[in-house]
Amino acid sequence: MGEAVSEIQNAEADWVHIDVMDGIFVPNLTFGPKMVGDLRPYTDLPFDVHLMIEKPDQLIPAFAEAGADYITFHLEAVVHAHRTVQLIRSLGKKPGVSIVPSTPVSLLTELLPFIDQVLIMTVNPGFGGQNLIETCLDKIRSLAAIRKELNLNFLIAADGGINVQTSPKVRNAGTDVLIAGSAFFSAADKKQFVKVLKGIS
Ligand code: ZN
Repeated sequence: MGEAVSEIQNAEADWVHIDVMDGIFVPNLTFGPKMVGDLRPYTDLPFDVHLMIEKPDQLIPAFAEAGADYITFHLEAVVHAHRTVQLIRSLGKKPGVSIVPSTPVSLLTELLPFIDQVLIMTVNPGFGGQNLIETCLDKIRSLAAIRKELNLNFLIAADGGINVQTSPKVRNAGTDVLIAGSAFFSAADKKQFVKVLKGIS
């Protein structure tokens, strides 16, 4: 895992995105705060911790302590999302909210003024290497339009099915943060891959 983080840094990616899965909110398991803390010494890049877990409030302080910079939770996993946002902010971290493909952007409206990032899942979360769901790009377009209309400045992130082929349309839809897992780690030239995703090559 430490080598993987070094590869991300050497490829000149901007952030390390860390998918935390609990086997309940999504049908797969990854790791907890200890792993995030163990990875922290490997890079100074921001850690974007994506919590695909039930009851995120219980673990958010531990992830903050472990060295997360952005902490992104799922709207579908909480009742009092605004409270969760405040908890993350109170720990000095940047709050993000994510929605799965079946959740409409309109459910985020009340939260948008309080958050630093919206993460649009462009596949159903749980497994790497899936194909991008094209209709999710419409959600990114409408979110970008709402952001402009309300004069807000949260980042729009897209996660799932992003590779060399899909990245231009994801970027053109209004995405600021492109997240890649399988496509990055299977790329022969990772530096070049990052340039393509950033649209500078
Ligand atoms: Zn993720």
